[in-house]
Amino acid sequence: MTLVASNRTELAQQRERVVADAQGGAIAVVMTMGALHAGHAELIRRARERARAVIVTDFLNPLQFAPGEDLDKYPRTFDADLQLCRTEGVDLLFAPTPDVVYPDEEPVVRVNAGPVGDILEGDSRPGHFDGVVTVVAKLLHLTQPDLAYFGQKDAQQLWLISRMVRDLDFPVEVVAVPTVRDSDGLALSSRNMYLGDDDRESAVALSRALRAGQAVASSGVDTVMKAASEVLDAEPGVRLDYLSLVAPATFSPVQPEHRGEALLLVAAFVGKTRLIDNVLVELGGG
Ligand code: AMP
Repeated sequence: MTLVASNRTELAQQRERVVADAQGGAIAVVMTMGALHAGHAELIRRARERARAVIVTDFLNPLQFAPGEDLDKYPRTFDADLQLCRTEGVDLLFAPTPDVVYPDEEPVVRVNAGPVGDILEGDSRPGHFDGVVTVVAKLLHLTQPDLAYFGQKDAQQLWLISRMVRDLDFPVEVVAVPTVRDSDGLALSSRNMYLGDDDRESAVALSRALRAGQAVASSGVDTVMKAASEVLDAEPGVRLDYLSLVAPATFSPVQPEHRGEALLLVAAFVGKTRLIDNVLVELGGG
């Protein structure tokens, strides 16, 4: 049975029940903004493999949206989200409103995501990652899990959350889950709901570009960037924001002579919809 909590009192009471039922087993959390899809379901399944109980948070966090972004039109599908949680055997769904998470309105004291919070996604979306790590910190305090599952799909977010947990000694293990894709390669995202038929076709260029880069990774940085750019340039429905190769350990852009693992990251507008994706590549020397 999936318990539902929408305020702090309910969460505390129901979490206590869930913890008692788990009889000392691990508790996992999967944090989401709702509009759940098979990518979220995969996080829940992975969590269930290791944890005795799984808590899902469903919270559309205003703090991580800049004015003019898609907060107002972000899909809200609570009934379907609850159904997915029931099907996946989630023990507790915490679905608060902003006034529950931020009772004093905007928090005065926040977590600062640091320099990696200002590049790539952070450069295009100023303040976004401070909003993300602040809400993740709060939800970790509220749910008190042993394990927290996040998708590789949002690689920079995953890096920053892992780093926050280490740097600030949160007593939780962060677990990364590989990106779930549609059969044509498009990374699943709640924002895919915005895409019309033509946009949906154009959007596949992102994952195609990443795969094109991946396929020539043994030839080095320049070749990867060229191969991926060519695919994106050839798709008129795609307006590139950034294409970048970063070192997975530091998230800093790689030097042209870099060898070994790197993350190839893309962000682009398809129509009015901004999408991101990434793959791991193994860079060689040509
Ligand atoms: P969101 O609701 O978009 O904030 O995502 C909630 C969590 O699900 C984050 O940890 C995401 O990285 C993860 N996630 C979203 N889409 C996918 C996907 N296609 N595959 C794996 N994880 C995903």
